[in-house]
Amino acid sequence: MTISSDTGLSTPSRSAFLEKTPLERYVAPAKPTLVGMTRGELSEALGTLGVPEAQRKMRVQQLWHWIYFRGFTSFGAMTSVSKELRAALAERFTLDRPEVVTEQVSVDGTRKWLLRLPGDPESGVPHEVECVYIPDTERGTLCVSSQVGCTLNCSFCHTGTQRLVRNLTAGEIVGQVMAARDLLGDWPGGIRPRDGVVPQRSSKERISGKPDMRADRCITNIVMMGMGEPLYNFEAVRDALLIVSDGDGIALSKRRITLSTSGVVPMIERAGAEIGCMLAVSLHAVRDDLRNELVPLNRKFPIKELLDACRNYPGVSNAKRITFEYVMLKGVNDSIDDAKALVRLLKGIPAKINLIPFNPWPGSNYECSDWEQIEKFSQVVFDAGYASPVRTPRGRDILAACGQLKSATEKLSARERMALRAMAMVE
Ligand code: SAH
Ligand code: SF4
Repeated sequence: MTISSDTGLSTPSRSAFLEKTPLERYVAPAKPTLVGMTRGELSEALGTLGVPEAQRKMRVQQLWHWIYFRGFTSFGAMTSVSKELRAALAERFTLDRPEVVTEQVSVDGTRKWLLRLPGDPESGVPHEVECVYIPDTERGTLCVSSQVGCTLNCSFCHTGTQRLVRNLTAGEIVGQVMAARDLLGDWPGGIRPRDGVVPQRSSKERISGKPDMRADRCITNIVMMGMGEPLYNFEAVRDALLIVSDGDGIALSKRRITLSTSGVVPMIERAGAEIGCMLAVSLHAVRDDLRNELVPLNRKFPIKELLDACRNYPGVSNAKRITFEYVMLKGVNDSIDDAKALVRLLKGIPAKINLIPFNPWPGSNYECSDWEQIEKFSQVVFDAGYASPVRTPRGRDILAACGQLKSATEKLSARERMALRAMAMVE
């Protein structure tokens, strides 16, 4: 997702290896943040302050409300917590989110934030990840990162070229959501930025009374489609998504959270069982020889094993379909035969198909398929019973940039790429 560091690795040398080893450790700050802590971890944190065991459950509930429901950034105004405990908490902990370095707002309301995270402990150079908010009339989608860089090396993905990789902590993942809500005034009683867009919920949704359907929410959906492979950072992603979907806090429905994986087969079942969110799979090819090239992880977990894991994804049903992402690469995977093979391959799996126009980046070896070809491909998919597989209208804007405005694309590619992916993920 991020285009901040170019390692200069060329595609041939990258395709020679399947994955890199994460090079960096995370060193927690002396004064850690409570953001990202589970109930159990909050209870332990209270224990270190001498809060007796018998009181901890109640105290955790109070903190949970202030941190994750109200979005407080300091302990001072937590009126249900005693003054002494507030002081003790402030002495040892913070409620910090990742630091927001820059904000860019596009004409269509898309916002991109650059967030700073602690970097390599030796050099002290911080990392930056991007988080993108894409408002639409009916939903607001936040595209969240799970790693700095990515250990995998998909040949069409710019993130894969980054050499430095660090797993984000649960706090840094939840922190992206918290920081975005801060900036959007998206906490109860929050003040909206003047140029902000609040998605409109249908009246049916407004009266449904579900907690995630608060009528005035900006962020209604989350997609784990930023930087990194979420299933290579499983525990942190799981803890973060369980916090974000907890009904006493941010309370986003798990049906509105989508985790995208390049196909880490052994972790797919755990994702369903332990997180229970929606699953998206980056398929991109219908034959192993081509997928080995595009998504080298396929050499470890080939298409058949991947699709078997999808068939067995806990909770999969026609009401909870798996999204198959398919990036449109000119002359590589975009023939009508590929389209026919794709629908044959997915037969029997409750599936949605998202065709993603390839977003080029400087030095990439691929081109985006022509719009006419995408339309023909999508017609085959549509005729097989999959509704509107290419996202519009923003998909079209971005597609135009993809094919026609190369220099503009270079400038905007990070935001556009994320917007594109996230748009492709929402209906
Ligand atoms: N690592 C995970 C999630 C992050 S990438 C995964 O691979 O699924 C999110 C999506 O963006 C994936 O489907 C990925 O294949 C796609 N993607 C990456 N680079 C792209 C590009 N340049 N153009 C279009 N889609 C891209
Ligand atoms: Fe990019 Fe996802 Fe592949 Fe990583 S797994 S290189 S983020 S497409």
